[in-house]
Amino acid sequence: MKTDVVIIGGSFAGLSAAMQLVRGRRSVVVVDANSPRNRFAKESHGVFCLDGKTPVEIRATALAQLRSYPTFRLTEDTAVDVAQTKEGFSVTLANGIQYHAQKLILASGITDQLPDIPGVKEHWGKSVIHCPYCHGYELQNRALGVLATSEMSFHQAAMIPDWGTTTLFTQGQYTPDDAVFDHLHRRGVSIENTAIVRVVGDGEHIQRVELSDGRQIAIKGLYLVPKVTITSPLVAKLNLERVETPMGTCIKVDELKESSTAGIFVAGDLSNPMQSGTFAIASGTMAGVAAHRALIFNH
Ligand SMILES: Cc1cc2nc3c(=O)[nH]c(=O)nc-3n(C[C@H](O)[C@H](O)[C@H](O)COP(=O)(O)OP(=O)(O)OC[C@H]3O[C@@H](n4cnc5c(N)ncnc54)[C@H](O)[C@@H]3O)c2cc1C
Repeated sequence: MKTDVVIIGGSFAGLSAAMQLVRGRRSVVVVDANSPRNRFAKESHGVFCLDGKTPVEIRATALAQLRSYPTFRLTEDTAVDVAQTKEGFSVTLANGIQYHAQKLILASGITDQLPDIPGVKEHWGKSVIHCPYCHGYELQNRALGVLATSEMSFHQAAMIPDWGTTTLFTQGQYTPDDAVFDHLHRRGVSIENTAIVRVVGDGEHIQRVELSDGRQIAIKGLYLVPKVTITSPLVAKLNLERVETPMGTCIKVDELKESSTAGIFVAGDLSNPMQSGTFAIASGTMAGVAAHRALIFNH
């Protein structure tokens, strides 16, 4: 089946890209496995006009609006193969359908690798969180922890006192240098070097953490910086240039969100070092406009 553009990933970035293209009267197929990164959270916060909406509501609203455009098509499936062709790109889905497009937009997101500590996964997106702008307000004025996963955790620990009393758990693995230590001290951050071995709660709210020496420390929210990885085999197959950032690996793009391969645009967390719904929407919008422009100017 032929279309102007195939977009892999139908969340904040992919659906924003689609909106620009269908308004440009181009045919677009969005292939989406419906597994957005924020699916673990009950509500999404801090996104203009969408504060407090659930991830399901946000997707449904976006799709309802897109479906009023005749050139929009959503296929709920997984793209399992992608190849460059003479005309552009072919994308094969798990159900065997193949789409042929002139331009390709990748908006398939990233994967969070969480520390392997019992209780972390169970509370992820609820009271074990990474982004204070997303969920910090809901956990304000409580005892809070920051679980160190890299040197970025010092930066995170210095921020969190704006939301509540903060303890940095270094796990005995990360030692702030003198300047960082002084800054954390001035910010009122306590430092605990004994490792957390378990996070205890009811699956939504955490109550405490258990340390390896048997002590229990009561906290109501635990921040951590997850290791962000690109796990998509399709992205690997396309062999696009990558860039290392303090936040993890991203696909390298120019200011128009075009990757190192002409005709492939990359949007959302996959290409953004700063990651949020809003940044994904902005980059998806840019990728959609740029792909439309490329359909006109670069064949
Ligand atoms: C727990 C948690 C809570 C968060 N809360 C907030 C918040 O409150 N506010 C905020 O602004 N940000 C929040 N974020 C960040 C936000 O979720 C991301 O920045 C945003 O989802 C990125 O959007 P995206 O479109 O790039 O990717 P995603 O939302 O991750 O969407 C990628 C989509 O691509 C699909 N996909 C992947 N591979 C394929 C394939 N091969 N074929 C078909 N489909 C595929 C996936 O199924 C998914 O639907 C949160 C993140 C986490 C982890």
